[in-house]
Amino acid sequence: MKKIAIIGAGISGLSMAHFLKEKCDVTVFEKENTPGGLIRCRRVNGNLFHTCGGHVFNSKRQDVLDWFWSKFMKEVEFTKTDRNSCVFMDKHYTSLEYDSIPYPIENHVYFFDKDIQKSFYDDLKEIDRVKGINAKIADYDSFGNFLRWRFGKTLYDLYFQPYNEKVWRRDLTTVPMSWMDGKLPMPTTQEMRENNENKVEEKSFVHSSFWYEKKDGSQYIADKLAEELNIKYNVIIDRIVYEKGMWIVCGEKYDRVVFCGNIKEMIKMIDGVDVDPYKASVEALAYHGTTAVFCEIDKNPYSWIYQPSRRHESHRIICTGNFSQTNNDDSVPEGRITATIEFTDEICKTDILDNLKRIPLNPTYIDHVYNKYTYPIQDTNTRRMIKTLKTLLESYGFFFTGRFADWEYYNMDVAIGSAMDLVNRMDV
Ligand SMILES: Cc1cc2nc3c(=O)[nH]c(=O)nc-3n(C[C@H](O)[C@H](O)[C@H](O)COP(=O)(O)OP(=O)(O)OC[C@H]3O[C@@H](n4cnc5c(N)ncnc54)[C@H](O)[C@@H]3O)c2cc1C
Repeated sequence: MKKIAIIGAGISGLSMAHFLKEKCDVTVFEKENTPGGLIRCRRVNGNLFHTCGGHVFNSKRQDVLDWFWSKFMKEVEFTKTDRNSCVFMDKHYTSLEYDSIPYPIENHVYFFDKDIQKSFYDDLKEIDRVKGINAKIADYDSFGNFLRWRFGKTLYDLYFQPYNEKVWRRDLTTVPMSWMDGKLPMPTTQEMRENNENKVEEKSFVHSSFWYEKKDGSQYIADKLAEELNIKYNVIIDRIVYEKGMWIVCGEKYDRVVFCGNIKEMIKMIDGVDVDPYKASVEALAYHGTTAVFCEIDKNPYSWIYQPSRRHESHRIICTGNFSQTNNDDSVPEGRITATIEFTDEICKTDILDNLKRIPLNPTYIDHVYNKYTYPIQDTNTRRMIKTLKTLLESYGFFFTGRFADWEYYNMDVAIGSAMDLVNRMDV
């Protein structure tokens, strides 16, 4: 039996360990004292706090769904919910209570006043004239250019630009299209016209409907997957040495290593294989962090609320209290739920409290966590560079996979799928 060391007990390391454990002797090393990585949750005053995001599950990959549901009892442990998301516009664009426009905004322009609707339809004509009716991803030279010329100037000014600038904190014309490969819908002008005229709902997003744990949120997934595994907690791996065809991790020899942490740390810990030519490029990889602010807010029917408003710095409210009633402690008053309010990068408590005053639904602060690495940012060379590093290390029996190992914008299911594909490539 081959001995395998897996670094990291996030969803990538946990699923990897499951795929390998029948055939190999697997040890997982985790620096924290619980499994989960980004999907970790904890209780605060009895309420469930997703310390990053508000993780929900679904997948377009049947093999991922089949494996996942072989580990969990779908109907017993999870509930299925249709996504009910909206965009909160600043007042005066509509006559609605919160000026809330259902998501995705481009299918619901009929919620806006007549002038905005007219500009939107004029924009669609302009897009047809300038870009043609069959524009492909390759026809846009940046994310900003894509949003402006896919959805038109009106929606760009009202929503896409202010919202995405809050998320990405940069000029959107500097974000390359390679970053969004396969991640964004590509509605044609004709589809947008028809969707608005026929009031069609978008059902093609991976999370248009989603599964959510009846108790303990995504921590439930991590805890249950961890049960059958050999995980060493509170162990920070900072050196991995290649010597005489074996890898040494924490003083023990392994035939193979699968690294599921952050590539920026990985590149510094490898010894015995020359990775120096990659160091500068890996160190230069860009990323964003997120401050997750746990709050009590007014009860509402939404899953996610997107916030383009320039009056405050938060871009999204995740109404985790709506995902499962068990996420709200009995002490939460009638008419209130718990939720996570997100800010890009680090924001101090004083600024959080100041922002909360200008965010709808009367949020009151409970707790907050800043995660330094949440969104990998790629440039046009990232994928090529990572692929060649992968090829080099794999020839020595060192593999890596995961959101911040691959520097890819993976969801949980994509991380599982990527681990699945990797196992098929490994000679074990
Ligand atoms: C804001 C936000 C919202 C999201 N929402 C969703 C959602 O609703 N649905 C969905 O499917 N996906 C969602 N995702 C994506 C999801 O979080 C990731 O795809 C997934 O959690 C990545 O898991 P991972 O195992 O690759 O990495 P991580 O979760 O980062 O796990 C890495 C693990 O390795 C450990 N580690 C790192 N270095 C070392 C070391 N040197 N020694 C020992 N241990 C180490 C870490 O402690 C951690 O536990 C969201 C992501 C974000 C940022």
